[in-house]
Amino acid sequence: MDQAFYNQLAMRSIADETLPRDRAWDILISDTLKLLPLLNAAFEVRRAFFGHEVLIHILNNAQNGYCPEDCRYCAQAKTSHASIEEYPLKSDEEILAEAKESYEKGASCYCMVFAGRGPSQKRTEHLARLIRRIKSQYPSLEICVSAGLLDEEKAYVLKEAGLDRLNHNLNTSARHYPKICTTHTYEDRLHTLKAARQAGLSICSGLIVGMGETAEDILEVAYTLREMNVESIPVNFYMPIAGSGLGMGEFRRLHLSPEYCLRVLCVFRFLNPKAEIRMAAGRELYLRDMQVMGLYPANSLFLDGYLNARGEARRRTLQMIQDAGFTIRSEYPLDELLDKEISSPEGGSPCRQPASQVPLKGWQELRPSASLLDPRR
Ligand code: SF4
Repeated sequence: MDQAFYNQLAMRSIADETLPRDRAWDILISDTLKLLPLLNAAFEVRRAFFGHEVLIHILNNAQNGYCPEDCRYCAQAKTSHASIEEYPLKSDEEILAEAKESYEKGASCYCMVFAGRGPSQKRTEHLARLIRRIKSQYPSLEICVSAGLLDEEKAYVLKEAGLDRLNHNLNTSARHYPKICTTHTYEDRLHTLKAARQAGLSICSGLIVGMGETAEDILEVAYTLREMNVESIPVNFYMPIAGSGLGMGEFRRLHLSPEYCLRVLCVFRFLNPKAEIRMAAGRELYLRDMQVMGLYPANSLFLDGYLNARGEARRRTLQMIQDAGFTIRSEYPLDELLDKEISSPEGGSPCRQPASQVPLKGWQELRPSASLLDPRR
C-alpha cells in the first residue's frame, strides 16, 4: 500500500467514519499493511484529539480476593489457586492516603478496584462517601471505580457523589465469554455499562487480549465499544498468573508478538478515534523494548503495576514518556516527577520481568499504607 492509503486511513478515522470490517481485519493480521505506516497513521488520529499528552492511571486494589465469581484470567476468583494475599476492604484512611499518593505521582485518574460480583447497597453508600472525600481534596483528580455488576440506582448514587467514570471491561466477545467466566454473562456486563451510561457516568471498558480468542473476537469488542461511544478503553494483554483459571496455559499456547499487540492498539484507535486508549496490563511483558511505540496509537497507560502483578519502575515509564517527546496531564511537571523518582531509593532499579513469569505484587505493594501499621516493622 502506498502512503496515500495510510493518510486516508487516518483522515477517515479523524472524521469518525466507521472502519470497514475487512480493513480492520487486515490491520490486525495482514502482511500487506506494514506496521510503521500504520503506527504513523494511528498517531495522526491520536494527535488530532489528544496531542502529545499521556494520561497516567494508578490502580488501587482496595480489596484483594474473596470474590465469588470465576473469571478464569483473575487471580482473585473463587476458583483460582494463585498464591495471592487476600485482604478485606482497606480502611478509608488507607484509600485516601493512596489517592493523595497517586495525585502526587502525576496521575490524572485514580482507579479504585473492589473485587466481587457487585456492591451491596451498604458498600455503594460507603463508596459514595469515599468518593466525596477524595473529590473534596483533589477536585482535578478523576475518579474511576471498578466494583463489578451495578444497576442504574447504584450508578446514580455514585454519580451523585462525584464519580467521574465507571470501569467494567467487556474483556472478550459475547461468543468467547462463556469460556472465560460462567458465574455471570456478557449480557450482565452490557447491562452494567448501560446503567452507568443512564446515570450519566463516563465509561471505561476494554478487553484482555490473549485468552484464546480469535482476531474476530477482538474486532467484535472494538466495534461494540465504538457503538457504545465508550470514553476510555483499556487494552490489556493477558498476564499469566500461576494458579489462576487460565494459568500459564494460554500464555504458552498463544504467542503475542509485540507487533500483534501494536496492531491491536492501532485497530482500537482507528475505530475509537476520540476514546482514551490505554496501553494497559501486560505492556511490559509483551511489548518489551517496543513499548514506546504503543504511545503512538495509545494516549494513556497504568503506572505502578496492575491488580496482582508488578509493572516496571515508575522512573522507566516516565523517562520513556519524556524521551519520546510526550507530556503528561498533571499539576506536577514531568521533569519534577522524574527528578523525584531518580532520587528515590528504588528509582534506579527498573523491574524487568522474565517473559515466562509475572512477578506477583507483595503485601507491601498491595497495601503500602497498611505497612505503617504493621507491628513487625
Ligand atoms: S475479575 Fe472481578 S469479578 Fe471476576 S473474579 Fe476477578 S475480582 Fe471477581
